[in-house]
Amino acid sequence: MGWALSEKVYCVPVPFFLTMSVPEHPMIIGGAEHRSDTPLTVRIPYDGQPFATVFAASQQHLQLAVEAAQRAASVMREMSRAERAAILLRAHALLAERKETFARTISSESGKPLREARAEAERALSTLFFSAEEAHRLAGEEVPMDAAPAGAGRMAMFIREPLGVIAAITPFNFPLNLSMHKIGPALAAGNAVIHKPASATPVTALLLARLFLDAGLPPGALNVVTGPGGSIGDFLVEHPDIRMITFTGSAEVGLRIRSRAGMKRVTLELGNNSAVIVCADADLDGAVARCVPGAYANSGQVCISVQRIFAEESIHGEFVERFAAQASSLPVGHPLDEDAAVTSLITESEAHRVVSWIGEAVESGARLVTGGGRQGATVQPAVLADVPPQTRIFAQEAFGPVAGINRFRELDEAIAAVNDSPYGLQASIFTRDIEKAFRAARRVHVGGFLINDVPQLRVDQMPYGGVKLSGTGREGPRFAIEEMTEIKLISWRVEG
Ligand code: NAP
Repeated sequence: MGWALSEKVYCVPVPFFLTMSVPEHPMIIGGAEHRSDTPLTVRIPYDGQPFATVFAASQQHLQLAVEAAQRAASVMREMSRAERAAILLRAHALLAERKETFARTISSESGKPLREARAEAERALSTLFFSAEEAHRLAGEEVPMDAAPAGAGRMAMFIREPLGVIAAITPFNFPLNLSMHKIGPALAAGNAVIHKPASATPVTALLLARLFLDAGLPPGALNVVTGPGGSIGDFLVEHPDIRMITFTGSAEVGLRIRSRAGMKRVTLELGNNSAVIVCADADLDGAVARCVPGAYANSGQVCISVQRIFAEESIHGEFVERFAAQASSLPVGHPLDEDAAVTSLITESEAHRVVSWIGEAVESGARLVTGGGRQGATVQPAVLADVPPQTRIFAQEAFGPVAGINRFRELDEAIAAVNDSPYGLQASIFTRDIEKAFRAARRVHVGGFLINDVPQLRVDQMPYGGVKLSGTGREGPRFAIEEMTEIKLISWRVEG
């Protein structure tokens, strides 16, 4: 076997002497560094250059992480809201100091353009800040017991208690902010976390665990275990002392987790094939200017990337022309190049997949307006028009730099086309007609609907999550905390 990157293999075992030239990032368990005898090389996806060495967790490491997290969970549970918020705010200050290091790490290991990696670091600051605020706000409420005859003479409240140990499993495409969306709320609510980052992007997670330790988080309250998702995932999902799995990633893995998790809480943030409706009365310049970055940011590897566009018949031709002109002018290059807007996909095999799905659509009758070429792991931004809806590039999650633009005559036809999807994360409409906007908002079956915006919009405090195959549960610190706590009722009978 060669050491070339292959399908779904982002980190490969390497002979030890070859791991000496890049920095080592050991796992962090119980506040201490842990190596194993299986080093893995993390590579820059754009050109395959080695970037770092991490270590594959053994079953002993995983068990150690569970035990460390259990001990820390009792410490976290006893901490006051003020103490937990103070740690999160200290972490916030440290992240503000270290954000450029994080941005460069994100960009290198995920292949994301540096300017987007910087934006991700800024968003992670915001997620952390909102988590600290929620630590202060975390509260139950009074229960009006005497509203029922059986409750007369009683006063009651419910409180929210932490679950204990939570396993957070995260994808490669936003290695910092999606981790923060799990870690921030979990710690704010008084839990301990075992974090399993994507094999392509473990270094960001390890730097984050180090940062939290520097901020004064008790050892064991955040543990990071690295290595292949299958074996580590199954261990965490089936371990009886882990109370919740918070997962972001593909529907395939999400369904596997759900089927094995038993009585654990499970939140799943999964994929989408996001749709946009563009009505003839819309501000066309504004729609194009929003849709192009919405489709090609992070080379289309965003769960809410603009993938399916439905433009009204009378403006379809003009929309396609303007959209394609902007898409084809996006600078393509190395992720650390300050000017690059589109870079590589996470692996070359992913680039092959996207190109073959484009080819399949063209063979089925779609028109390739621009792009679609491939060099290594990089795919030129592609625009398709009149795409048969049953082709994979339309019907499944493309997760690459490609958008398809179809046409509609009546709004209800467009709404039906948007809903013709196994997914339901976010969708949007561009129109100046408020009746049309709210008709679509009511009828499109998604977790979030945006008006005069792209579905690729996430502001970090908003409730975020999907319906259908896009998942269950909501994130955004306030909403994640609801998932990460359990309600306990306390009632007392008032004498006299
Ligand atoms: P993925 O292949 O599903 O991997 C996600 C995580 O799951 C990784 O840490 C992976 O580890 C781990 N994993 C793999 N097999 C597992 C198993 N059997 N049990 C438990 N964990 C396992 O997804 P990805 O390719 O990294 O990310 C892309 C997907 O994430 C897309 O579908 C995208 O839409 C979705 N996503 C959704 C959201 C959202 O908020 N809804 C946000 C971002 C991304 P390894 O890396 O070691 O395999």
